[in-house]
Amino acid sequence: MMRSRNQQVNLNILEEKGLILSIKREDEIHPFISGNKYRKLKYNLEKAKEQGLNTLLTFGGAYSNHISALSYAGKMQDFNTIGIIRGEELGQDVNHTLQTNPTLKFAYDNGMRFKFVSREAYREKSAPDFIAKLRLEFGDFYTIPEGGTNELAIKGCEEILTTEDGEFDYICVSVGTGGTISGIINAASDRHTILGFPSLKGAFLQEIINQKTTKLDNWKLIHEYHFGGYAKINEILISFINDFNQQTTIPLDPIYTGKMMFGIMDLVKNNFFKRNSSILAIHTGGLQGIEGMNQRLSKKKLPLIDA
Ligand SMILES: *Cc1c(COP(=O)(O)O)cnc(C)c1O
Repeated sequence: MMRSRNQQVNLNILEEKGLILSIKREDEIHPFISGNKYRKLKYNLEKAKEQGLNTLLTFGGAYSNHISALSYAGKMQDFNTIGIIRGEELGQDVNHTLQTNPTLKFAYDNGMRFKFVSREAYREKSAPDFIAKLRLEFGDFYTIPEGGTNELAIKGCEEILTTEDGEFDYICVSVGTGGTISGIINAASDRHTILGFPSLKGAFLQEIINQKTTKLDNWKLIHEYHFGGYAKINEILISFINDFNQQTTIPLDPIYTGKMMFGIMDLVKNNFFKRNSSILAIHTGGLQGIEGMNQRLSKKKLPLIDA
């Protein structure tokens, strides 16, 4: 089974507060199928093969880590891949879109076919009608939901923690659709408290995660660090990510792990963690998104994220 290393972070404030912080480097699992997306795809691709399907169809935004990961995993394992992408306007001049969007360019180069749909159509993406129309257009395929989250994805994410991680008091993880944290909750030891850091305004996530997990009292969502919503960032977050990278040599992505780590360090400062606690933060990857984010930041004349 694939496992990643735990890297201890040395920062003065951690010593001051009597805390140990390690980062599980899931971002290093694969150069192109990074972090939790690798875990989420593993059993889904096995299932698609079992069902004799050679095309994978999925959904995502224009800078999606999942789209990027799935396009590469599909190429490696000889699947055709189709991406239903949010944003009709991106389909008007596909060449321009590919020139200006490194995520879609990467997926395209891996052989992914795109269908660009309006935001309204995208909202209906799991409706049977919509899927039936896609079958008429593309033939039979194995469907993987947005963000890759389904039962098999959660099963894959149950493999992130290993028995050696049992000694940590806190497991911290960023949350998008809630699949990754669900796997971690299911696999946690009795000692663990799991803290989820949603990167979007997600009051609904509590209920979703409840439905996907069996344990009720070993986890908690911390809603204070989404920075205004999904894909929203500001100069404070950018400078935190750059400082953290400089001090620890660990790169963070702006959408997920940067917000989580900002939250963890803020909680450290505010004495949320008891003295002598140990914290394991999961680096779920997402570094492919930095290039696209920097292009948008430079258009807005904002500081960039150091590569
Ligand atoms: C997709 C993603 C997440 C969110 O995972 P969910 O299972 O959707 O909650 C977190 N971090 C990174 C880097 C991701 O790409």
